[in-house]
Amino acid sequence: MICTPLAAPTPDDLLAALPVAAAAADWLELRLDALHDLPVEAVLHALHHVLPRRPRPVVVTFRPREQGGFRDLSPADRLRFWHTALTTPAEAFDLETDLIAQLLPTYPPNHPVWARVVVSHHDFQATPADIHAFAKAHFPPFAGTVKLAVNVNQPDDVCRLFDWLTGTPSTRQKIPVGMGGLGVLTRILGPAYGARWTYSTGHDGRAVAPGQLTAAELRETFRLPSLDRHTTVAGLLGCPVAHSLSKDMHNAAFAHLGLNWVYIPVEVSPDDLAPLLRDAIHPRTRRLPWTVGGYSVTLPHKIAILPYLDRLTATAARVGAVNTILVSGQELIGDNTDVAGAMRPLQQRFALAGEPVAVLGAGGAAQAVVCGLVTAGARVTVFARHPDRACDLGNRFAVPIAPLDDFHGRRFTGLINTTPVGMAGYAEGDCPVPPERLAGLAWVYDLIYRPRQTPLLQAASQQGMATLDGLPMLVAQAAEQFACWTGQDIPESVLFAAAERALADFKTAGFKSAP
Ligand code: NAP
Repeated sequence: MICTPLAAPTPDDLLAALPVAAAAADWLELRLDALHDLPVEAVLHALHHVLPRRPRPVVVTFRPREQGGFRDLSPADRLRFWHTALTTPAEAFDLETDLIAQLLPTYPPNHPVWARVVVSHHDFQATPADIHAFAKAHFPPFAGTVKLAVNVNQPDDVCRLFDWLTGTPSTRQKIPVGMGGLGVLTRILGPAYGARWTYSTGHDGRAVAPGQLTAAELRETFRLPSLDRHTTVAGLLGCPVAHSLSKDMHNAAFAHLGLNWVYIPVEVSPDDLAPLLRDAIHPRTRRLPWTVGGYSVTLPHKIAILPYLDRLTATAARVGAVNTILVSGQELIGDNTDVAGAMRPLQQRFALAGEPVAVLGAGGAAQAVVCGLVTAGARVTVFARHPDRACDLGNRFAVPIAPLDDFHGRRFTGLINTTPVGMAGYAEGDCPVPPERLAGLAWVYDLIYRPRQTPLLQAASQQGMATLDGLPMLVAQAAEQFACWTGQDIPESVLFAAAERALADFKTAGFKSAP
């Protein structure tokens, strides 16, 4: 089910990688084209040495650079390699389509080795327009398995890959691989719909093709072995989504309650949003075969998605933005759980009615926070670096907007930071206001959760103020979403533990994070 490529530079490295990769993989792909500068005979020698030590079934690959391989290989090199490699007891051989005709004189169509061959086609640019016709023209009927690894540029490409996978009944096995952001659907759900396996990143965690996930993620986070055609699919629509903690929280919650659901983050560009909603999500128009449970929505789609929804909940309409999609009968409904998510941990700690509260920033999160604060009876002032951009927010909730530089803590009881200043990867280490301006506040709430202790919260605690970080909000909004989608309550401790585990794994790198 999960096939992990081993792209090691030397035969010794390849041997050492076998047990590492075997920990989470069902199959191992021996990427012999990654062995640096070895002549073909030495590569074959390495193969003979490795095969008796393989801890899992292996698929042997020897791919030339122009088809996505690691090295230059002449047609003669390739044929010399395969004439011998096909006589070994490896469980499978990945042969590119252009080699087939040349191998037929030695290995005619009725030769038993073809049952072990995966005939593959790679296209790093596009998906064929008519996959069925392409497959008929390029994949020989005698190959045991056929693999189409193609770049998916639009949601329609994903639909056509699944149509090919599930369409014509066939005795041979198929492996559709969608490369790129939208291709994650084929990588996670392919095996549930009959794909022979899905490829993870290499044993060292490095992707050998765009969009791969690690074998451990596929197995433990997405629970790939337990997914099937009855799995309900939920997920996240955003750009970027790679560092989202939502997949960790929701998948842990499904596992905790034993629900046959999976949560898949999908990187969707603004151009792809409408076609993805139409082809993959909307109950009246979608073409993909699974039941959709609901979606989270994050930057940059929280407002852009509004025209494609059938209706909004009262909260989403009030905020003017959506972070949650619900499926109800034939309708898609937009909701906003950021309001409850932001307010629940805040109201558990501090009284708000009648209190003066300052909000820094006027973006998407600020809309939800201000909506919640106004509803709770707080007296809100928004401070923005570009007050002109905050007019909508001011008008919508009838709150004053002031320049960021005008903020002084002594006029307020509480301060809520909704800017990304201090977040890992963005103005990291900075405070959105000078620390001395905090004086006079009773409490400070920072929506940032990566890191949990931002410079703002550190400055506030040093001055004796109560503090609240962004993780409880992230957990609370996810718990709300979960309850809306599944009708079941999940203990927040399950979500917290999953988010904290993922945060601990997080390595600070330059990126813009997403909830
Ligand atoms: P957004 O829509 O991009 O809004 C960001 C706001 O911050 C805008 O008003 C922006 O002002 C302002 N801003 C950006 N850089 C600034 C700077 N250097 N100095 C002053 N103001 C600045 O983003 P968002 O969705 O609201 O998210 C904001 C933060 O909240 C992020 O860190 C996000 O991770 C966090 N968040 C947390 C949760 C949670 O569950 N804990 C949920 C949602 C968001 P301009 O308009 O002038 O650019």
